[in-house]
This record gives sequence, structure tokens and C-alpha cells, in this order.
Amino acid sequence: MPNIRFKALQDVLNRTIPEVKPPAAKISDYFGANVFDKKKMKEYLSTEAYQGIVNSIEKGEAIPRDLAEQIASAMKSWALGKGATHYTHWFQPLTGTTAEKHDAFFESTADGGAIERFSGDALSQQEPDASSFPSGGIRNTFEARGYTAWDPSSPAFLMARTLCIPTVFVSYTGEALDYKVPLLKALSVLDKAAVDVCHYFDKGIEKVNASLGLEQEYFLVDIALFNARPDLYLTGRTLFGHISAKNQQLEDHYFGSIPERVYAYMQDMEAEALLLGIPLKTRHNEVAPSQFECAPIYEEINLAIDHNQLLMDLMDRVARRHNFKVLLHEKPYAGINGSGKHNNWSLITNTGKNLLSPGKTPKNNLMFLAFFVNTIKAVHEHADLLRASIASVNNDHRLGANEAPPAIISIFLGSQLNDVLDEIETSRISKKIKEDNLLWQGIPKIPQILPDNTDRNRTSPFAFTGNKFELRAVGSSANSASPMTILNLIVAEQLRKFKYDVDKLIKKGEKKDLALLIVIKKYIKESKNIRFEGNGYSEEWEKEAERRGLANIKTTPKALDAFLAEKAEILFAETGVFTPREAHARHEILLDSFYKKLQIEARVMGELVQNVIIPAAIAYQTKLINNVKGLKDLGLPASTYEAQLDIITKIAEHVNFIKTNVDQMVDARKTANAVEDIRQRAIDYDDKVKSFFAPIRYRVDKLEQLVDDGMWPLPKFRELLFLK
Ligand code: ADP
Ligand code: MG
Repeated sequence: MPNIRFKALQDVLNRTIPEVKPPAAKISDYFGANVFDKKKMKEYLSTEAYQGIVNSIEKGEAIPRDLAEQIASAMKSWALGKGATHYTHWFQPLTGTTAEKHDAFFESTADGGAIERFSGDALSQQEPDASSFPSGGIRNTFEARGYTAWDPSSPAFLMARTLCIPTVFVSYTGEALDYKVPLLKALSVLDKAAVDVCHYFDKGIEKVNASLGLEQEYFLVDIALFNARPDLYLTGRTLFGHISAKNQQLEDHYFGSIPERVYAYMQDMEAEALLLGIPLKTRHNEVAPSQFECAPIYEEINLAIDHNQLLMDLMDRVARRHNFKVLLHEKPYAGINGSGKHNNWSLITNTGKNLLSPGKTPKNNLMFLAFFVNTIKAVHEHADLLRASIASVNNDHRLGANEAPPAIISIFLGSQLNDVLDEIETSRISKKIKEDNLLWQGIPKIPQILPDNTDRNRTSPFAFTGNKFELRAVGSSANSASPMTILNLIVAEQLRKFKYDVDKLIKKGEKKDLALLIVIKKYIKESKNIRFEGNGYSEEWEKEAERRGLANIKTTPKALDAFLAEKAEILFAETGVFTPREAHARHEILLDSFYKKLQIEARVMGELVQNVIIPAAIAYQTKLINNVKGLKDLGLPASTYEAQLDIITKIAEHVNFIKTNVDQMVDARKTANAVEDIRQRAIDYDDKVKSFFAPIRYRVDKLEQLVDDGMWPLPKFRELLFLK
């Protein structure tokens, strides 16, 4: 049988670069062309309908039925004008990907003809046959109905010839079955809590939106090489592969010049994204070979997340035209950097003020400090929940392994702001100070423009970077709605407590500004433990964190416990973001996906070992045996085939080890499958099945080094990483 690896290598050599033409010379000429955005709404809608949808976006007001009818009809005209034939409700079920079910606009008429129709009802609500989406027991199959409902705050867009309408996905009984519902709920709680706190400083603020800028890391690999690696196309990562002699040690890839074939891909992908209104702005090489990053300009959080979900889908579609495959997995290749998705988060008022940006005056800075310190305090209180929100089987390769943010949640502020907080903490705010002057002296000076700390400490999972926080521990393939729901929720709860504490002091007769400062000071002290400026990857930090009592949960099944902890239960109940049933369902879905992904990896490993790797090793071994026999036949001394014998023996040892361990792994799997409790099953998969992966891989990689290159069937790391 011809070796598929060499066929793939041949394909790579013959690649040509497709010509990419941008839709227009200037981006501003085509940005958002495929989005039914406000500008187009204005053009296609009556003033009344337009105002209705704006009110819905800005104030969350429901859209009356007759307006929905008008909007649907306008959307249809716009979409048909652009060649659309179908529409779909586009949603984010808990599988982690996006889902869509297309319906044609066309309907037959009584006289045997056909018309294009799209009703307000079809826009507002759909009932996809949803029994196959994960529901964690919420939706028994006998009540399999689930509904998608239009989310007007995220505009409809045109993908290929289909009009896509962003929607939420809920069960028949009204429970959330997706990522969007809890996010929208958390944002609404946050809005209220943040506006209340804003009113201490500025009564004119009516709304606070969370903003989000998502930096998306990814790998590219030639499609032919990808297809020659069943582990890659079945699990998203390589389960075997000896590290390439050259990898990232020269640090020559980061920000390096972009290879031409990749450049063409990026331009093509960016143009498609820009047409869809995704404001991609930045592109560069990342640290590992063949690793890249793109980042849009930040947007309102719900939209930013929809755009990121759409982008991940789009990246893959466009890659096909370029004979590339996009790897969004958090750790496609052992031994080199994995991929993350930095979540740059901030709070912005309807008056355009960034609440995490220090101001000109001490009074402004008190406002900044209020939001800044409350965020720190929120993360301090709920670090475990934030950790749970980023837990996944893929991300376990980063968090908890020796790389990118550690599993310990800590906050990096940069020395300047650390000093500011220390100063406030140690300053004496005497209750006797009644004079404003003295109060303002209690607030250290904060320069208006803070240096961007981003590059100074890349080891921190949660860093303050000038005018925003950056949650860096999110996995590259994750739906950011999960951590962003939690972050916004815990900050909202914290702001409520803050208001309660401040009001209490005011009621006791304290001056408002002093009350604010007293509570801020108290919070600084209470949340001090979570602040860490040093190297997050170091062993000393692990010890230090333990001493401080910070959690260091390295694996998903245990990290997920936080969803069901009493603390979370109280938080969810007070804010109404998750009902107990929803929290339990999510917990179960995440555990289920965790162990199933390990199950798949274990199976793929077994198959590849038995059917691909051992046969290749034995074929080479047989070749050597024949060679030794030949040398012996010639009557040559044993010294002439010493090396061959050594390799023959080593191959035998490795093959034996691999075979035995794969058999044991199969048994371990069977035992784990029989465990009733899903949490325990996930833990067993982690402890007793996954634990076979590294030793088996180690031996396979040894074989890769021993076996004749011409006989090795799987594309090697050097090929996957360097051939383009
Ligand atoms: P880095 O130095 O971390 O690589 P980039 O410039 O690549 O930074 O990305 C930073 C991201 O943060 C961008 O998406 C940017 O739009 C976003 N960002 C900037 N300001 C804010 C803000 N106030 N709120 C949220 N995101 C922001
Ligand atoms: Mg960043």
C-alpha cells in the first residue's frame, strides 16, 4: 500500500496560492455589507419599526408582533436582494459549536405557484427538532421540544445564501439550553448593579455595557497532511509525534513575516469576516511554528461572542479554499505552545466612559478604583467558579500542565497600580476626617495613561492591561460566553454588595466619598491574596499560592464542582442567572463531554497503535532481521550486525510495551464506562485512562525515531509544522 504520508507530502509540494481579491479597495467600503445592521434597518424599515428594534436593542424592550412582521418582511427583501434563498435561526447549543437548520423562503401557493415568504413568527421563534442537543436531563425525549427565539441585539447576517438570525435556545419549560441565555441574563444583572454604583458619581449614566475584545489563536496545517493524521481529524490534536528538531526554540516565529500562503488565507478570511461585520484588525504570527492570531476591535460583549463563534466557523470554511485546515484545539502539538483566546474585558457606560480607565481628577479616580477593586474582589471571592468556567478536556493541557496560565487564578496589576492599592490599604482614613481635602489626599495619584502591562507578565491568568482586564486562561476553541457569563455575574454581585456596604455607612452618617473610600480600602485588604506579580509558571508560586489558600485545581472534573458549590448556588439564586436545574444540567453536560472526548482519544490511540504504528515498526524490524540473516549467511562477524540487533531488540521492547499498555487501557476504559456516577466516571477517565496516554505516546515517539523514515506512515511534526 502506498504510504499516505508521502502522497500528502507530494500534494504540499504542488500547492499553488489562490489569488485573493478584496471586495473593494477600502475596508470601509465593504465592512458589514452582509449584515442587516442599523443602517440597513433604517433604509428598509418604517420609522416606527426602526425605533422598536432600537428600543429592543438598547432597553431590552419586547418587539410587538406587528413590528416583527414588518421587520421580517424587510429582512426578507434585503436578503433576497442579495441572492438569499434560505433562512435559519443561528444558535449556540451546549455542544460548544454553532447550530443552524435552514428553511427555504419559498412556499407553494394554492394555485400551484410559489412565493417567497418570511413571517414575523418565523423570525421570532422556531422549534427545531432539538432532541439531539445536550440538555443534561432537562429535556427528556418525550418532551423534546426546544425553542429558538430571536435575539434582536445581535443583527442578522448573510452567510453564503442563507439569512442567519442569531437566537437563544431554550427548552419547552423555559430553561436555557445554550450559552446565550445565561450571558444575556448576567449582562442585565450587571447593567443594573453597575449603573447603581455609577450613580454615586454621575447621575446621568443610564446603562453600562460590558465590552469584549477576543484574541483568537490558531494553527494552520496543510489539508493533505491533516488528512493523513487520523488523530488530528478525529480528536483535533496529535496523539503521537516526536517533537521536531527545530521547533520554537529560536523564537523566530513570533511576529515574524507571515508566509505567503498563509498571508493569502488571512486576507481571504479577513475579507469574509469584515463583510459579516466582524471588525478584524490585528493579525500576526504567534510563538509556535504555524501558529497565528487574529483579533477584532472590541465590541459589546454579546455581539463580540457571536462574532467570535461565527469567526471560528468562517476560518475553517475559508481555509478549505486554501487547502489548509485550521486547528482551534488548545494543544494540537505536545512540546510547543498551545492556543488560547484572550478575553479583553471592560465596562463602558452609555455616556462613553470606560469604567476601568483612570480619570483626570481624584474624584474620577475614586470611580475607577470602585470598579477596579470590585472586579478584583469578585475574582477573589469566586476564583473557583471562574476556573470552572474555563475547564475543558482540551484546556487541561494548558492549565495545570506546564504552560500558559496556570490553573491557579491570580490577578496581575502591574507595579504602579499595586503601589496605589498598597498605599490606600496602609493609609489612615480616619473617620474623623471630615474635610474633603484630606479625603482626596487619601487617594494616591494615578497617572491617566497607564502603560500596557500586557507583555510584562504573560504568565498571569487575569491581568490588568491599562484600561481593561484580560482573562488569558480561556481556551482557543471555547465559547467565551461561559467565562464571560461568570465574570459579569460575579462582578455584578460584588457591585451589589459594594452598594449595600457603602449605603450602610452613609446611613450611619458618613459622607458619601469617605464611605466609598472606606469600603474600597476594606476590599483591597480582603482581596489581597489573589494579587500576584511574579512568574505564574514557577514552582515557588504553586507553593506560595497553597500557603495563601488559593485553589490549584488541575483537572476539569474537579474544577467543575464549583458550579454546584453552595457559594455558587447562592450567587445563582440571588441573580437568577441559573436555576438549580440549569446549573446541574450544565455540570452534567460538561462532565459528559469531558469523558467522551477522552474516550474517543483513547480509542483513536488504540486503533492507530494496532493498525498503523505496530505494523510499521514490525515491517522495519523484519527488514532488519533479513539484513542480519544475510550478513550471517555471508559469514561476517557478529560485530557487523550489532547495531541492527540492538534496534531489533528495542523495537520489540517498545512494541511489547505499547501492546500491553493499550490492552490495559482498554480494560481501564471498560471499568470506567461501568461507573454509574458521571462525576466519578469523568474522574476515572482522567486518572485511570488518560494516564496511559503519556507512557504509550513516549514509546510510539521512540519508535518514530528508530524506524526508517521512508516506512513511517504518519506525517511528522516537522512536516506538520513547517511545510506550507
Ligand atoms: P495584546 O497586546 O494583548 O496582543 P491586542 O491589541 O492584540 O493586544 O488585542 C487587544 C484586544 O483588546 C483588542 O481586541 C482590543 O480591541 C481589545 N480592547 C481594547 N480596549 C478594550 C476595552 N476597553 N474593552 C475591551 N476590549 C478592549
Ligand atoms: Mg492580549
